[in-house]
Amino acid sequence: MKHKNLQNQDCKVYEIIKNEEERRKDTLEMIPSENHTSSAVLEALSSILSDKYAEGYPGKRYYGGNQYIDEIEILCQERAKELFKVPFVNVQGYSGSPANMAVYFAVLNPGEKVMGMSLTDGGHLTHGWRVNFSGTYYNSVFYGVNEETGLIDYDKVEEIAKREKPKLIFAGATAYPRLIDFKRFREIADSVGAYLCADISHISGLVIAGEHPSPAPFAHLITTTTHKTLRGPRGAIIMVTESGIAKDESLPEKINRAVFPGLQGGPHENQIAGIAVCLKEAASPTFIDYGKRVVENCQKLAEEMKKRDFNLVSDGTDNHLILADLRNKEISGKEAQNLLEKAGITLNKNAIPFDPNPPANPSGIRLGTPAITTRGMGEEEMIEIASFISQVVTERDEGTVAKIREKVKKMCNKFPLSR
Ligand SMILES: *Cc1c(COP(=O)(O)O)cnc(C)c1O
Repeated sequence: MKHKNLQNQDCKVYEIIKNEEERRKDTLEMIPSENHTSSAVLEALSSILSDKYAEGYPGKRYYGGNQYIDEIEILCQERAKELFKVPFVNVQGYSGSPANMAVYFAVLNPGEKVMGMSLTDGGHLTHGWRVNFSGTYYNSVFYGVNEETGLIDYDKVEEIAKREKPKLIFAGATAYPRLIDFKRFREIADSVGAYLCADISHISGLVIAGEHPSPAPFAHLITTTTHKTLRGPRGAIIMVTESGIAKDESLPEKINRAVFPGLQGGPHENQIAGIAVCLKEAASPTFIDYGKRVVENCQKLAEEMKKRDFNLVSDGTDNHLILADLRNKEISGKEAQNLLEKAGITLNKNAIPFDPNPPANPSGIRLGTPAITTRGMGEEEMIEIASFISQVVTERDEGTVAKIREKVKKMCNKFPLSR
């Protein structure tokens, strides 16, 4: 039995974890930034490495007793460098947001200019949004997508860059269903002498699997979370590429100093061990197959949703996520999220580009296939899920929701979570 000691010593915490496990067993996890990690990753995470203080870097620690900790961190670094084909990585970032913060700290002075994708068009908070540190301590300007096509308007990006002359440009998104042209971003960055940071938090698993072009030949810096399509523990990797080092040979050192002692104290070595395990998993042929199926499933789901009169931003998807504009369905994103949750389908309300409604009550939903593909679901299930979503959003009555809830449970039972 799992968590035996926890059950004996703290039944309250045990019960809550148990309940969460039950919830997951029976629901379709379709938030595109989530996934189901392997038991191996979870074992590394809950290991005694959690106890150790290891401020500093391998070979240069401020505490003693770090012989094995150094080994685990070096192993993780080597695996990350090999997999992403980059000469330098830092694996100590606690999560995606602190990793991005380290990039700012390394290359900008407070008040200097950053350009990122607007949150309202699919960008991340840390790409300059005003309520975030990035928009508070730095001067931020934004680019976005074309209203007609839903695609990043690269000519506009170039125009804004030339006018604003940012020192740092972020390319990357949390709610963009199409491929990102990192080559074009690099040309734009070069035209104004800016650093280009590709934030591949959402798509790093797809990059590894060859389903999304890698930014490694183009970006100076790359950041990624490790818990989204990469399917590892919560965490982050910051990378400096060959061209990053060519632009500024001290960039690796600047990143290291930004993470520690700039922003963080002791690294979470249990988390770093978990990242090492997930990188080994991601280097296997089955992961390449996984990435392929994530995209195939997402495209099938998109096609089936379109058949049911859903308007998709950019009219479809190239990756693991779908952004649906629900205005023609006359239901808000929030209402759809709540009803679907009752039916056992977890996804999130999301702003759509040029959303007339406020971010707290946006017009769209965002959904994706990383977690349900991990469970082993395929084409047949995508067709059914599109039908479930359509029925719930259209009918909205308790009877329909209850009926779909049962169907979702049945589907989930066919694809058990234990891995
Ligand atoms: C998820 C995400 C982050 C932040 O990651 P956290 O681990 O939630 O801090 C940063 N950038 C992008 C593009 C993301 O999708």
